[in-house]
Formats: sequence, structure tokens, C-alpha cells
Amino acid sequence: MSSYTQKKLAAATLVAKADDYIDTTTGGITPPIITSTTYARDNRYRPIDDAHVYGRDDNPTFVQAERVLAELEQGEEALLFSSGMAAIAAVFYTLNSGAHVVLPKSMYWGVFTWTRTYCDRADIAISYYDTPDAESISQAMVNAARTDFVWIETPSNPMMHVTDIARAAQIAHAAGAALVVDNTTPTPVFTQPLLLGADLVVHSATKTLNGHSDVLAGAVVTKEVNERWEKIAAERRGAGAVPGAFEAWLLLRGMRTLCVRAERAASNAMQVAQFLDEHERVESVLYPGLSSHPGHAIAKRQMHDGFGSLLSFQVMGGAKAALDVASKLNIIVSATSLGGVETLIEHRYSVEPPETCVPENLLRLAIGIEDIHDLIDDLNQAL
Ligand SMILES: *Cc1c(COP(=O)(O)O)cnc(C)c1O
Repeated sequence: MSSYTQKKLAAATLVAKADDYIDTTTGGITPPIITSTTYARDNRYRPIDDAHVYGRDDNPTFVQAERVLAELEQGEEALLFSSGMAAIAAVFYTLNSGAHVVLPKSMYWGVFTWTRTYCDRADIAISYYDTPDAESISQAMVNAARTDFVWIETPSNPMMHVTDIARAAQIAHAAGAALVVDNTTPTPVFTQPLLLGADLVVHSATKTLNGHSDVLAGAVVTKEVNERWEKIAAERRGAGAVPGAFEAWLLLRGMRTLCVRAERAASNAMQVAQFLDEHERVESVLYPGLSSHPGHAIAKRQMHDGFGSLLSFQVMGGAKAALDVASKLNIIVSATSLGGVETLIEHRYSVEPPETCVPENLLRLAIGIEDIHDLIDDLNQAL
């Protein structure tokens, strides 16, 4: 089907065409949703289509979204999962007891908490590095006989720390470790970690990839098919964290507009960041697109065409002042999550556990694709 894959089309063309599907029986240009959980065998007891036997192994509805994702990330293969956390867990399930991993101190809270509990139970050692400083990855590895992988999330959620992926890859590889990047926040539209030396990319496809806050899904993309990848695929088949056929279909449909949504949201985010940066009631704005951001130079080097749709800002006057701003917004909705077409705001301190390093006056904005003037007017009246 995908005659163009060798030609390296631009991302916008790739997602709009979504693997060039033409239905061979009807000529339909959008794929059907295959709901069947099982597949017939012929009279010689062979599966009619070699690829399909049972719904936990695979589903033809996944394949197109997986191909598009692999292509977008410039990886060899991709696999869909039932959620971002299921995709991330599948990566950790490849580790044996006694393994050692290096994680950032500041990252998406769900991954931080789940890995702490799981790794403790599975006898996997974790060392933490100082998120914005790739050099500190070396220090986190010094006491380990061997490190299995290094984890990066950049820009990190919600502190917006930027980590140098290429440098982290050098450090990880020199120690024989693999580099895994959670690319949920920037998406491959703005950052392609596999081209910068990463070995695996994970996604919460629930966020910008789907983009409409109506699908829970995840993905892992590999630079190359190897033993680790076979383990991840076996884990998905065996433990069964596959998305439903409807979710996979909706995800592909959402991804067809990924580039326009991501570009518009990033342009809105840049303008909101500039507006907030000049506002007297705002103490600081955390957005790597601002030249004042400590990670701006690295972000400029490793991100292309924009800096993503996520930003955080600190309000003068503490937690109460921040919550007050959130409550006064009319267009922007208070809710968790990110990457949807609608702008959301969240007081992360209220939802993270007490040991969080997120400041209590911080608000995280997940910028959508609304008219920029409406967004700025709303923030202006609330501040
Ligand atoms: C949301 C999120 C996840 C978890 O994904 P789910 O689809 O909610 O399971 C992982 N990493 C990051 C950076 C996220 O924002």
C-alpha cells in the first residue's frame, strides 16, 4: 500500500495521506474498523491471512497507525498499546531483576510513581539525574556495574526542563545502556529523538497524537528491530495491553491533522508565553521557546519548527493566587491532560503528592487551537 514510504515525504503529507490506504474491495479511501477478535482458517487449517489469528496478537486496524508513527519518528517499527502507561510499562517489563535504570528527577508524575513502585517490587535499581543536565546522567551511573537504560522526557512535564538528547545518547551508549525518550510533549512534529541517537521512543497517544481528548492509547517506536523489540512485542501479545479497534481507528483519524494542530497550538503557546512573560502578576514563565528559558539553546538545536503546546507559569502570591486565576477563566477549562484541540489549565501542586518539586504557585497550560486573541483575553481578565 505505502508506495511512497521510500520517498521520505514531509510529515504533513505523510499524516494527511495516512499510509495511502485504498480499500481493495470497495475503493474506499479511509480504512474500515475491523472489530473481529478471531480469524478463520481455510480447509487446510491455515489462517486465511497469515498475519491474523486472534485479536490480542494483532488487528489490521492498528497497522496503519503504527506505520504512520514509525515513519514520523523515522523508526523501523511501532506498536500501539492501550494507554501511554501500558506502552511505558511494556518497556520496563523487558528488564530482568537486578537491572539498573537512570530516570530524571523531574518528569511526568505518572511515570515517576509507577516506576518507583514497580521497580522496587521487581528488584530493579533506579538512579535519578538532574533533569536539565545531561552530564549528570554519568554521575547517576557511576555506582552501577551496568546500566540497562536511560530515560528522557524533554521538555519535561510540567517543569519544562530541556535535556540534550544527543548528549544523553552518547553518555548512555558509552556505558552500554539504551536511551528511551518519552516524546509525548513535543511529538515527532517538533522532535525526532531516534534521529538524535535514541533507541526507543514512547508516547501517550492520548495527548497530541490523537488530539481530541477522546482516545486513550499509547505507542512504542523502535529505531531497529532487535531482541529488546521482540520482547516488547511478545509482552503486548502475551499480556494483551492492546487498544480497541475503535480507539485505533480514531487515533489514525486524529493523526491525519497532527501537523496543522501541533503547529497552530505551538504558535498559540509561543504568543501566550510572550504575553504572560510581560504580565506584572506573573513571576515566571517556563517555555523553551522564550530566549530567557535556560534550555532555549538546546531546544532550538533539537526541536524543529516550534516548541510545542505545553507551558507553565508561576503566579505572584502563592497557591491561592494561582487557584484564583484558574477559577476566573471562562474559555480555558480546568482539567488534567494535554494535546487536545481545547486549551486546559491545571494546578499541578493540587494533584501531585506532597513530595512533589512542583511549586505551589505554578499553573500548567496545555494550549489548544483556539483563536489566540480569545485565549489571551481570557488570561488577561483572569489575571
Ligand atoms: C499522559 C502522559 C503519559 C501517560 O499516558 P496515558 O495515555 O495517560 O497512560 C506518559 N508520559 C507523558 C509525558 C504524559 O503526558
